[in-house]
Amino acid sequence: MCVCVPHDLQLYILQMNQRDRIQKQRESLPTYEYRDELIEAIREYSILVVIGETGSGKTTQIPQYILESLPDVKKIGVTQPRRIAAITVAKRVSEEQDVSLGAAVGYTIRFDDRTSSSTKLKYMTDGVLLREATQDPHLSQYSVVIIDEAHERTLETDVLFGLLKQTHRLRPDLKILIMSATLDVEKFSDFFDECPIFEIPGRTFPVDIIYPESSQRLSSLKSLMVDQAVDTAWQIHTQEAPGDILVFLTGQHDIERACKAFEDKERKLNYKKGVKYYDDGHGVKNAVVFPLYASLETFDQKAVFDPSRESVRKVVFATNVAQTSVTIPGIRYVVDAGFVKEKSFDPNTGMDALLVTEISQAAATQRAGRAGRTAPGKAYRLYDEDSYNRMLLNTIPEIQRSSLLSTVLSLKKMHIIDVLGFEFIDPPEETLVKNALKQLYLLGAIDDIGKITPMGEKMSHFPLSPSLARVLVSSAEEYGCSHEVLTVASILAGENDLFRAPSARSKGGEEAMVKAEECKLRFAHHSGDHMTFLNVWHEWRQHGKDRRWCKDNWINSKVLETASSVRSQLIDVMDKCRLPIKHAPKIKAKSSKSNKRKMGQDERGETIDPVPILKSFLTGYFTNIANKGVNRSVFSHYSPDEHLTEGISADEGSFGVRSNALVALHLHPLCAFSDMLDRNKIKYAELDWVMYTHVTYTNKAVMKGVSKILWDWVRSGDGQERIKKLPKTRLNGGDGPNVLEMDDKMKEESVVVMANIDLPDD
Ligand code: ADP
Ligand code: MG
Repeated sequence: MCVCVPHDLQLYILQMNQRDRIQKQRESLPTYEYRDELIEAIREYSILVVIGETGSGKTTQIPQYILESLPDVKKIGVTQPRRIAAITVAKRVSEEQDVSLGAAVGYTIRFDDRTSSSTKLKYMTDGVLLREATQDPHLSQYSVVIIDEAHERTLETDVLFGLLKQTHRLRPDLKILIMSATLDVEKFSDFFDECPIFEIPGRTFPVDIIYPESSQRLSSLKSLMVDQAVDTAWQIHTQEAPGDILVFLTGQHDIERACKAFEDKERKLNYKKGVKYYDDGHGVKNAVVFPLYASLETFDQKAVFDPSRESVRKVVFATNVAQTSVTIPGIRYVVDAGFVKEKSFDPNTGMDALLVTEISQAAATQRAGRAGRTAPGKAYRLYDEDSYNRMLLNTIPEIQRSSLLSTVLSLKKMHIIDVLGFEFIDPPEETLVKNALKQLYLLGAIDDIGKITPMGEKMSHFPLSPSLARVLVSSAEEYGCSHEVLTVASILAGENDLFRAPSARSKGGEEAMVKAEECKLRFAHHSGDHMTFLNVWHEWRQHGKDRRWCKDNWINSKVLETASSVRSQLIDVMDKCRLPIKHAPKIKAKSSKSNKRKMGQDERGETIDPVPILKSFLTGYFTNIANKGVNRSVFSHYSPDEHLTEGISADEGSFGVRSNALVALHLHPLCAFSDMLDRNKIKYAELDWVMYTHVTYTNKAVMKGVSKILWDWVRSGDGQERIKKLPKTRLNGGDGPNVLEMDDKMKEESVVVMANIDLPDD
């Protein structure tokens, strides 16, 4: 006999099973046992530190307990240091609450808001809450604010600590929770006037630490890192009992390469054996490989979090995001390459750069711990024990190693004039704060007694670096070309490169490289990258924003799509600040018979004048300029004490940056100029002064986002006026020190403020 179950009922049963499963999972987490005690503690204290092992349920569960047990709370805000964590967790929690994402549970990250008026639980990056606090120091829309992953000590989290202390004085009714893995918690409690600490005992299993057989120093590991990590993961996969593998590498590029290498190995083996999959005698057959890194916003969350099917092993190649922010179930093997990519202030260029650095002992321990969450595990370190012993005990908080430009502007915006006296949990070095004050003054964001200017107010509305914000304001108010500048700024605001570079190593690599270069050359503008980006944008729109077209032209379609959404959000900010959006002036075109639009022209086929656009960018980046003297291999470099340093030779093709230590800067291969020089479209001698957007480091310092400028533009800019007035300023407020007072000290420490250089009249 056949029993027919109606389709609706089937669906209902399926959903019930799913709900059951979720409920069981929630109840199995260590936080569950402490639910009532936790709620009691939150009722009783206005500030509370909560600690518990990673994976115990702090991030996903505790906000839900509050939501479920304290019905009269307004909004609960939870910060995450990483965008990917905010998204992942919000998705998960909305599933657990059985609501659609963006309704009662949502997230907000920069340029992406998935909340609505009905949102009660909002996950967000710490940067977003910091921005909100700048606009509303009372944080009046929240009843509860949770600073999660506090042990990560990001710059934004650290500033939030100081601000929340003030908010607490203004609003004693606000509940503040600091959640952290089991690191350094006394410090948090001490900072918040010895507030109570609630500890959730963890359930962890022992993890065997395995060091390489022969000695392996971290310093010599760097270039071999990916290969060794893949080999080790492969060895585990083919020799060890079931259990998933988590491999810690440093960035997107390495991770993609590792995933491919691992999959290649598997493919080759299967091919050799002539069977579809491999059986190692433990019942593990094939592997599924996942990348996991921060800019991977659309990663296949379901697949990573689903328990592995029997006989299949998950192999996850991840950045630091998997160290404490995101917990993947089932991991029993960890491979740790010992490096992390982190933000570091580079005193030579005065800017932040992402550098691959050694992790700390605390981080190594956290990473190893990921193998012992559900059963005993093994952690394979690719470096020897000696290297481990030489590591720093703890990671240096980000605030002590980054440029503080945005942070100081936020504080000034909140009328915290004396930023040197701000209550930081670990104060940054004074020189870093003073350097930021000086840069902000040069950008015109603060005046000569350290107060925020109307320009600074406008800049602070943009979720961008102060330099880029300044560019937008100038393009609207001064140069009348905000329409175009918005486009270029939106592309530059993203973290990824617009052009894709084929790898020479891959199959047909050489040929692909030539092809990609030809494509790039078609877009290249004689003035450099800024206008080249604009060319790409116009072509892309002309081709209906087609992904296929992007692929064929070696363009990263995601960068353009993101830029498009960023652009419309920046337009909203411009409207709010009443900044006009104007088209750049056109150059009178020589009459052309063909109707076909050429590069450098806008959608109507008119030729855009690059000068106002580049001048706008220079108002934000006039301290990021480099000079390639007229002589091809000799650099002229002016030091602050006005001694002409001549005859420092560097390789052909590098630039001297203006600072008191000469840094040779090279063009990144993705720069328009690189291709143009390669193909003799321009000559090195034609490049004198350039402006750059970033510096990154490979084995040398390379500039990205580079365009040609004239020294005259720099000299006539109002930045020069401010450079002259700098000695008279008191940027830390009326009674604060003169910023120049510390210059001797800064010089000693060779922290360089590039713009404070008197340049000759010509
Ligand atoms: P903590 O914040 O204490 O580190 P979390 O609340 O992040 O812990 O995680 C608790 C549990 O929820 C972990 O076992 C984790 O694997 C699981 N989990 C987290 N996110 C997801 C998700 N997106 N899908 C499935 N399980 C998840
Ligand atoms: Mg967490």
